Amino acid sequence: MAVIEVALAGRAYDVVIEEGLLARFAEAAAPFLKGYGHARKVPVVADTNTHRLYRTALESNLAAAGYAADWFVVEPGEDAKSWGVLERLCDWLLALGVTRKDHVIALGGGVVGDLVGFACAVVKRGCGFVQVPTTLLAQVDSSVGGKTAINTKAGKNLIGAFHQPSLVLIDPLVLATLPDREMRAGYAEVLKYGLLGDAAFFAWLEANGDKVLAREPAALEHAIATSIAMKARIVAEDERETLDLRALLNLGHTFGHALEAETGFSDRLLHGEAVALGMVLAAKYSARRGEISQADAARAAGAIAAAGLPASLAALGLACDGAALVDHMRHDKKAEGTTLPFLLLRQLGEAYVARDVDLSDIAAFLDGELAA
Ligand code: ADP
Ligand code: ZN
Repeated sequence: MAVIEVALAGRAYDVVIEEGLLARFAEAAAPFLKGYGHARKVPVVADTNTHRLYRTALESNLAAAGYAADWFVVEPGEDAKSWGVLERLCDWLLALGVTRKDHVIALGGGVVGDLVGFACAVVKRGCGFVQVPTTLLAQVDSSVGGKTAINTKAGKNLIGAFHQPSLVLIDPLVLATLPDREMRAGYAEVLKYGLLGDAAFFAWLEANGDKVLAREPAALEHAIATSIAMKARIVAEDERETLDLRALLNLGHTFGHALEAETGFSDRLLHGEAVALGMVLAAKYSARRGEISQADAARAAGAIAAAGLPASLAALGLACDGAALVDHMRHDKKAEGTTLPFLLLRQLGEAYVARDVDLSDIAAFLDGELAA
């Protein structure tokens, strides 16, 4: 078991990582289970998969503690992060009589977590929520740090708020049912922590990544706890990404978002897969600038390929050129006028924000990679 505190002044909260935590939910979340009105009821939001898989475990544990769950179940997938579903969810919470002191439980991956977090940011100007992330990606990344959002026609995550959860409960056992492809996609964000800030962790992942992907308990818990510890430290120091610190978490994401946009944010390329390839490109581009060696860039790519993640842009078979990918980047939330801060590597285990990157050079670099 590991408990990691996200040390935000006045709003500090714990991230608890422990096998079997879902089956002990009521004890672990006891301070946040109040029940609205006079009913000992707890609002839980899930998608149809997490509802089907984990409803019984959660309900029987809640029942033993004298609580019952009220469920709001969404379809799996990004479409749930929409104005329409947000409206229904907010209306549902208000109809239940949820107050600012109540806590909504988010049982699912990043989609459920982002949606619930945003709803809780705006219902009565902010009610509480507890994250129970069920994908590796949500466990190591989106459930911690308070970024919440929905998608609109103009793009992903453009409407949102910073709203921190009161507690994050991570049960690695729920990853047993996660499809392998989703597991690998989440693992890309684990590798990200090694590459951006912890060379020893990166080396550990090179040696033990297969155990993590196979859900071996000790390896999995170590990978999750190390990832969260780094995220917690960064979020505590730079909650709203006003310094360059939280931006480091975007390693691989500028290239990655362009690839997601080019593939239509579809199943063709999952977010984690795009980030994986984005990190390969960031490493190669860093080598092209002479900041890391070609051998180190190859090492980063090797760890990504070894996890079964996409490591070659050419292999993706995109029918576009580098300029088209750069065009997607210009729409990035982080775009500042005609330039874009790029996350590059000073060494394996040390990322930094480069502000002197010329987008036409990126286009030329990508043309080379597309043809490689
Ligand atoms: P992410 O956390 O990567 O943003 P999503 O919330 O989109 O992911 O979830 C990815 C998919 O995995 C969805 O189809 C979701 O229903 C499913 N899923 C989430 N958690 C589990 C789990 N523990 N077991 C099986 N499927 C799961
Ligand atoms: Zn990401």
